[in-house]
Amino acid sequence: MSFADLGLSDELLQAVESAGYTEPTPIQAQAIPPVLMMKDLIGIAQTGTGKTASFVLPMIDILAHGRRRALMPRSLILEPTRELAAQVAENFEKYGKNHDLKMALLIGGVQMGDQVKALSEGVDVLIATPGRLMDLFERGKILLTGCELLVIDEADRMLDMGFIPDIESICAKLPTNRQTMLFSATMPPPIKKLSDRFLSNPKYIEVARPATTNINIAQYKVPVSPRKKREVLRHLLRTDDVSTAIVFCNRKTTVRELAKSLKKHGFAAGEIHGDMDQPARIAELERFKDGQVNILCASDVAARGLDVKGVSHVFNFDTPWHPDDYVHRVGRTGRGGASGRAFTFVTPDDAEAVQNVEKLTGGEIPVFEFADEQPAEAVEEKPKGKRPQRAKKVEGADRAERAPRKETTEMRSEEPRRERRPRRSEPEPADDGWNGPVPEFLKVSALA
Ligand code: ADP
Ligand code: MG
Repeated sequence: MSFADLGLSDELLQAVESAGYTEPTPIQAQAIPPVLMMKDLIGIAQTGTGKTASFVLPMIDILAHGRRRALMPRSLILEPTRELAAQVAENFEKYGKNHDLKMALLIGGVQMGDQVKALSEGVDVLIATPGRLMDLFERGKILLTGCELLVIDEADRMLDMGFIPDIESICAKLPTNRQTMLFSATMPPPIKKLSDRFLSNPKYIEVARPATTNINIAQYKVPVSPRKKREVLRHLLRTDDVSTAIVFCNRKTTVRELAKSLKKHGFAAGEIHGDMDQPARIAELERFKDGQVNILCASDVAARGLDVKGVSHVFNFDTPWHPDDYVHRVGRTGRGGASGRAFTFVTPDDAEAVQNVEKLTGGEIPVFEFADEQPAEAVEEKPKGKRPQRAKKVEGADRAERAPRKETTEMRSEEPRRERRPRRSEPEPADDGWNGPVPEFLKVSALA
C-alpha cells in the first residue's frame, strides 16, 4: 500500500514524499479514502499511529477548491491542548506547501488580536481549542455558518478535560450539512453519545483495541518504596540500555528536583514542566531533540502530545493518577514501529492507580525482574544538610499539573471547566504559554 493508492492529488503526494513518509500507517490507509469521499468518519487508534495525517491530508485536497470568506472559516479542527493544536498546524504547513491554504490558530498564549485579524481576512482551516473558540464566538468575532468540515481530534482527551459541553454547543452552531470526523484513542460512552448525535452515518475505523498500548512497548511495573525511587531510576538508567528517556512525574516540583538530582549524579538530564515559560520549554525540548540531554524529566501537561521520536524508554517515576495519562506517557516510546520500554514505579500507595491503569489497558503489567541484585547502592539517598526545597515549600507549590482549575470570570480559558473525575489536588494557575513549536504560518500570515 502506498500513498499514491489512496486517491490524493499529485501536489499532495509530492509534499508527503518530501516529508519523508513512504507508506501510510493503517489508520491513514483506511481513513483517507472515505474522507476524500466526504463521508463522516470515526477513527479509533492508539497514540502515535498517525491519526493527524489521516485527516490533514484529505482535508488539504478537499479544501483546495473553494473560496475563503471573511470571518467564516471553511473548516474547523478542535484540539484539546495548545501543543496538539500547534502540531496539527505544523502538519498543515508541511503537507500543504504546494497549496494556497490559509490557517488560523486559536489557542492560549498567542495574541488574540492577531488571530482575529487572520480570521477577518478569511481562513480555510481554523485550528482551535474549544474554550478559546467559544470565547471568540461569544464576542461575535467569528461565524461558524460557513464551516462545512469539522474534526474533533483526541475526543477522549476532550472528555477528560471537560470540553464535551463546549463541543456540543460548537457542533450546534455549524451547518448541519457538513462533514464530521472524530478521532480518539478510546471510545468511552460519552464519546459514543457525542458521535451518535453529531455524526451522520459515519464510517467506523478501528485499528487497535481501545486504549491498549502499543505491542512494540515492553511494559513493566517496578515495586518501589517512595524513598528508593531515585536510586532505582538511576540503576535502570545505567543498566537497561537507555539511549533516550522521558521520565514522567505527577508534580512539577518532583520534575524539578529529580532533574537536579540526576544532573548531580552525572546524567545529561533536562526538564519540562508547566512553570516554565514558552521559550524555556521550547529551548529544553530542542536540547533533548538535539541530544544535548538524553533524559527529559516531564510533567503530563507540559509533555502532552509532544512529538519526540525515537525515545527508547519511558519511566513513570510516579504512577499516573489518571489511567489515560499512562497510555499517553507510554505512547512516547515505541513510535513509528520502533520498540520501546516503559517502566512504572509503583509504591504501596499506588495500588489503586495501577489497578485502574491495568483495567484500562486490559491486562496486568508484569513486574520487572532485576537481572542482578536490586540497585547496588542500597543506602537511602540522604539529603545533605538542610532541605531547602522542602523547608521552603509554600502552600500549594507541590500541586499536580493536572488539577481542577478555578474558573476565571473574565475570559474562558482553554482549561477544563468541568471535572469528570474527582481530583486530589489543588488548582494550578492558568498556564502562560504553550510549549509546542511555533508554526511558520503563525509568523507569516496570522501574525503579520
Ligand atoms: P496520533 O495522533 O495517532 O497520536 P500522530 O499523527 O501525532 O499520531 O503521528 C505520530 C508520529 O508518527 C509523528 O511523529 C508522525 O510524524 C509520524 N507519522 C505519521 N504518519 C507517518 C507515516 N505514514 N510514516 C511514518 N511516520 C509517520
Ligand atoms: Mg493525535
